[in-house]
Amino acid sequence: MDIILQQVSYAYAKNTPFEKRALYDVDLHIPSGSYQAIIGHTGSGKSTVLQHLNALLKPTEGSIKIGDVEVKPEKKNKQLRQVRQKVGIVFQFPEHQLFDETVLKDIMFGPMNFGVSEEEAKKRAIELVKLLGLPEDVLEKSPFDLSGGQMRRVAIAGVLAMNPEVLVLDEPTAGLDPRGRKEIMELFYRLHKEKGLTTVLVTHSMEDAARYADRIAIMHNGKCVLEGTPNEIFNNEERLTDYRLELPQSVKFQKKIEKMTGKKLSTICLTEES
Ligand code: ADP
Repeated sequence: MDIILQQVSYAYAKNTPFEKRALYDVDLHIPSGSYQAIIGHTGSGKSTVLQHLNALLKPTEGSIKIGDVEVKPEKKNKQLRQVRQKVGIVFQFPEHQLFDETVLKDIMFGPMNFGVSEEEAKKRAIELVKLLGLPEDVLEKSPFDLSGGQMRRVAIAGVLAMNPEVLVLDEPTAGLDPRGRKEIMELFYRLHKEKGLTTVLVTHSMEDAARYADRIAIMHNGKCVLEGTPNEIFNNEERLTDYRLELPQSVKFQKKIEKMTGKKLSTICLTEES
């Protein structure tokens, strides 16, 4: 399912004295099956874009196509519920949204709310707990008795239990230690590769974008100012500097090797600690 933003502008509290323009004419095409990173400093508009991807926000100008559903400012749309099932968002610190008595009930809540049978929802929960590397006995525990890293995994399982076609990740590793970060990022990458899950990663980390994404969009002051493959983006160092962004260490390292050897490396090589 492709997601296409066309000239999307958005203002918070429109037509009030508190009106705040957050997006200006954003064009972005996220093809089905791709891994898209969205990068930018705080306040650049990343979260506002993210909330358009499953129609939590509707553009104040322009339009967004989510699969075959078109979301426009003036248009009422009965298909938004369907869109929200197909596009799963893992918000920052998703564990803050856990609420049920047991992990099992928490993971089953979303799908059952969307008409999935109890049996099927339970089956999904059991599979996901395994997939996310959690012990099976976690299912009967209270989510609030788990470690922070485990809570995060349970919350992610709750989003995956909806069987989304697109997974949107808002700084999914915020607050985790380096090992937890790597495990979670590798897990999302595996899901993307093995299940063909379209993935959108909103991040501050150029390094994560370099390592995982096949396309990168740079947001700056509410505009999408650069978009392309990692190679295209990282060969545009001057523009990145204009937006106060630095090349990832791994790319700097690669460029250094290329300079020393006089040979162009075809793929971005990443150091283990990156
Ligand atoms: P980012 O995710 O890149 O940090 P945001 O999309 O959160 O950026 O913010 C873009 C702009 O919109 C910022 O200037 C921010 O202050 C403003 N903004 C974000 N949320 C709201 C809101 N609920 N009400 C008013 N302004 C907001």
